[in-house]
Amino acid sequence: MTSLAIRNLTKTYPNGVRALDDVSLELGAGMFGLLGPNGAGKSTLMRTLATLQDVDAGSAVLSVDGAPLDLLADKERARRVLGYLPQDFGLSPKARAQDLLGTFAVLEGLVDRAARRQVVDALLHKVNLWDARRQAVGTFSGGMRRRFGIAVALLGNPRLIVVDEPTAGLDPAERARFHHLLAELGEDAVVLLSTHIVDDVLNLCPRMAILHQGRVRLVGSPDEAREGLRGRLFARTVTRAEQEALDPALGVISTRLVAGRLEVRVVADAAPAGFHPVEPSLEDVYFAVTTGRWTP
Ligand code: ADP
Repeated sequence: MTSLAIRNLTKTYPNGVRALDDVSLELGAGMFGLLGPNGAGKSTLMRTLATLQDVDAGSAVLSVDGAPLDLLADKERARRVLGYLPQDFGLSPKARAQDLLGTFAVLEGLVDRAARRQVVDALLHKVNLWDARRQAVGTFSGGMRRRFGIAVALLGNPRLIVVDEPTAGLDPAERARFHHLLAELGEDAVVLLSTHIVDDVLNLCPRMAILHQGRVRLVGSPDEAREGLRGRLFARTVTRAEQEALDPALGVISTRLVAGRLEVRVVADAAPAGFHPVEPSLEDVYFAVTTGRWTP
């Protein structure tokens, strides 16, 4: 059993920006989605858990089969149980996939040649890059790079896997393949996936949180999140002129084009004039929370 307890993390950068403001989260094995707009503090949290930067206060303790490990205090040991997949990482463009993965494996402590070969080959199969193993990584597509990143992150059998904004720039087929791989990782590891793509969390994560301006605004399952907003979300199709005439106090969370017409959505206790109730999507929850119109 693996779990992660994040307690009261706070971080203020030297320029005065408070990127994390008393962040606490409990994560079990499996995928946990962290949603938030740009600047919410996601990368700061991910980099902190990946031992790459320090916080001002708080703790993060990983429990593996009952044994606690303080990730922030014991970085050396933390790195041994950690797999970190950054948004993009610098790869030596001319190195072949198999050789490069072998080099990373040595850094992980896999010094025995035969054992290393076995691990590297198994990982290349797992991420479906076996046929490309002799190809220079500089020639890889975005999707292949992400999958290679997973192979690197999986070296050393990590119990905490931190994945930062993975699907940027992937075509739909590559994205689906990447998702299948991620979903497989969560069996006995804590997998923390940070993204601003609401659908990725909906598809992949049984539990999630929304981070906004450094604070945790919502925690739960995507279904619970939608349930909370049910009965309080209303929509109306408007013309441009009508849109401009809307009362600013209405609590608009989104305005979008639906079949060429503007649809305005609001959070309210009861339907404002001309509005009808709608079933909340996770995206509505996200907008309601990050516009500050709804506090779960
Ligand atoms: P996200 O990953 O959700 O976009 P970040 O953690 O990157 O959020 O950033 C959170 C806030 O901290 C933003 O306002 C950002 O500008 C600021 N920030 C991030 N890194 C630094 C830094 N090294 N120095 C100063 N401010 C930073």
